[in-house]
Amino acid sequence: MKTYYEATANQRPVFPSLSEDIEVDICIIGAGYTGLITALELSKKGYSVAILEAQTVGFGASGRNGGQIATGYQPGMIQTEEIIGKEDAESLWRFSTEATSLLRNRIALHSISCDLRDGELYTAAKARHVDWLKREQAHCESRYGFSAYEWISREKLADYLDSTRYHGALLDREGGHLHPLNYALGLASAVKKANIPVFENSRALEIVPGSRPCVKTDYGQITASSIVLAGNAYLEGLVNQLESRIMPVRTYIMATEPIGEARARHLMKTDACVSDTNSNLDYFRMSADNRLLYGGRDYVGDPRGDQTELLRRHMLHTFPQLSDLNIDYIWSGKVAVTRHLLPDFGRVGPNIYYVQGYSGQGLPLSAIAAKVMAQAIAGDTERFDVFARIPHKPFPGGTRFRVPLLSLAMFYQRLRDLL
Ligand SMILES: Cc1cc2nc3c(=O)[nH]c(=O)nc-3n(C[C@H](O)[C@H](O)[C@H](O)COP(=O)(O)OP(=O)(O)OC[C@H]3O[C@@H](n4cnc5c(N)ncnc54)[C@H](O)[C@@H]3O)c2cc1C
Repeated sequence: MKTYYEATANQRPVFPSLSEDIEVDICIIGAGYTGLITALELSKKGYSVAILEAQTVGFGASGRNGGQIATGYQPGMIQTEEIIGKEDAESLWRFSTEATSLLRNRIALHSISCDLRDGELYTAAKARHVDWLKREQAHCESRYGFSAYEWISREKLADYLDSTRYHGALLDREGGHLHPLNYALGLASAVKKANIPVFENSRALEIVPGSRPCVKTDYGQITASSIVLAGNAYLEGLVNQLESRIMPVRTYIMATEPIGEARARHLMKTDACVSDTNSNLDYFRMSADNRLLYGGRDYVGDPRGDQTELLRRHMLHTFPQLSDLNIDYIWSGKVAVTRHLLPDFGRVGPNIYYVQGYSGQGLPLSAIAAKVMAQAIAGDTERFDVFARIPHKPFPGGTRFRVPLLSLAMFYQRLRDLL
């Protein structure tokens, strides 16, 4: 079944497969946001670049995500500061605000038509989360001078949502949402316009390291001075050292039938999208054609049961008044999550760079990651090193047992969410 995004996609630029041996300065593996923007950034600096994509542009998380843009990082800034210290936390915060404006600038620069809307509500799923959200707001305001957060009380939330489920919300006025596949396709068109070769249906099968590492595919190879790994949760074991640093978590999104402008505006009274504070979070937004796009249900390992029915129950928990609606589309994708829920940047050897594990924030963060990656390749590693200093821990159980162990942990977490 097509995703809703595929069904409403703009014209897709088409790229050939790799069928010969070529040499470039930089070979990028993966044509999601990270790979595409890194290619644009490197090309702007004068490097010759080529991208290998195992499937087609935007096949991975970039073409199927919730489309939500939020400032900051998943653990929140108070916890981020505990993990990496005050100074680096402040730098990370600045990178994240830069990321949301880079994203908007890039959409404008390449005239990408992707239904960009403003506002993101981070809703308190439990009464005890209210205090935490208010402390986050105060922390970001006093430490970083960030004034785009606004606390919305439970009573005031009625002006935003026709739902009594939540205990209040933090409105991020610099957040927003967009059509994720059309954003990826717009980036791909910009890459094509910049004459950067992209090879679709060309999976990187092996990397031969060296001073000029070589990436092998079925019908050709690319030799380069540096390689960028941008395969994220879809890299699937190409580089063993990276595997235990992230957990691929499957999450689902469904699209209702169109509900019309009037009903849509009654349900969600502003343009803001929503994600909640549960660790197995629900996230939703209204599409440009007035469908409710509702996401949730995280799985490590194999999902069980009728996903449409299970996700529909989540939607009815938030909006019981939608029981008459048909579900037109449902799809899933893999989110790369790290143990601290902060992104994982680094090198595997001197000339193989990687970034992965945005932990559900990759839509904005890929914009800054690509920029920082290109700066590092050009010799300015200052900002790359801030990210690379995050003390990531591998998931316990190694590549073989991390999935069963995490499934247990998530089952426990789900129980806690229910309490
Ligand atoms: C259902 C879902 C909802 C999400 N919601 C949000 C959200 O609302 N907001 C947000 O900020 N983030 C969200 N995310 C996360 C976000 O989508 C990702 O962080 C982001 O898209 C990562 O981009 P990427 O380019 O790094 O990786 P991807 O988009 O996953 O791209 C990786 C690409 O690499 C290719 N590849 C992998 N291995 C190879 C190989 N060996 N050879 C060649 N190519 C290869 C893959 O085919 C894939 O196309 C969500 C993710 C999912 C799945």
